[in-house]
Amino acid sequence: MPALTTHYLFGDQVLPELPEEIRQIIEQHRPLYHCALQGPDLLFFRCAVSGKSFLPKVGGRMHHEKIGEVLSFMKQYTASQKEKEEYPVLLTYFFGYICHYYLDKTVHPYVYFLTDSICNHHPEKTPHSVHVKIESQLDTVFYGLLEKRNITDFPVKALFTVPQEEKEIIGRMYSQLLKEVFDLDFDSREIAKAFDDMKNLNIPLFDKTGILMTASNILGEIFPKTLDLTAQIRPKRVSVDIANLCENCWHHPENPKLKLRKSVFTLFQDAKEEVVTAMKSTYDTLEDGMGVHFDTDLDFAGNIVSQS
Ligand SMILES: [Zn+2]
Repeated sequence: MPALTTHYLFGDQVLPELPEEIRQIIEQHRPLYHCALQGPDLLFFRCAVSGKSFLPKVGGRMHHEKIGEVLSFMKQYTASQKEKEEYPVLLTYFFGYICHYYLDKTVHPYVYFLTDSICNHHPEKTPHSVHVKIESQLDTVFYGLLEKRNITDFPVKALFTVPQEEKEIIGRMYSQLLKEVFDLDFDSREIAKAFDDMKNLNIPLFDKTGILMTASNILGEIFPKTLDLTAQIRPKRVSVDIANLCENCWHHPENPKLKLRKSVFTLFQDAKEEVVTAMKSTYDTLEDGMGVHFDTDLDFAGNIVSQS
């Protein structure tokens, strides 16, 4: 996953490219759209501190398994509610989720490549902590690049406060989805709580004072494992070319022959173009009773989906 802010910025840039009809629906539900842009990452945050929920694991599975089935379920579920009040809420969520998928699968190969190269030089670091840290730094870079502001100004609370009714509608959709696609039982109210967990856990990660960052650096030196928890704190400044704006050569981790020079910014633009086409065709074919008509061969990491 590129992180919270990068996904937010992506959705924000996609919006003006969409036909008026779709844009109007999404604009009525902006905070929900911002959450939807986080895709299955939403589930990562449920009881993330206490570790008392299985939903974060499910969020992980949703990044690698049954990609086409999940998207097709969302399409059909949304279409089946066409005449009901829930419809615009479900459509907004579905479209935000599609955006997450496109950005993840396009940017992740670069993030995994960079993670591998850093871990080769720093065997003491865990790949997960390096991955998360890269994505936190990308948030800082993209917010500066696109909004010309410091990441500590990113207003998590204002952007991610979703009306209770909408959280419940999405909770019910997920509950059915997890039952039908993964054969898992989760109460819709439990899933709905992930929205507040995501918001509340992210507020301190965009810490203005820098105190958390200093504390995490010290903790990180003493206990490298704690980096897994603290790498998500957004740095105020990034001194390395983490977004590859200089266009150095890199390769797809699963396919080393595929060499690229694209910056993350270029990947971001590529994903934007592709997702707009996918969203338009999805809207036009919403009620055809079929699965989604765009390519779902890749998982959210940008790798070919293993059949399960
Ligand atoms: Zn993700």
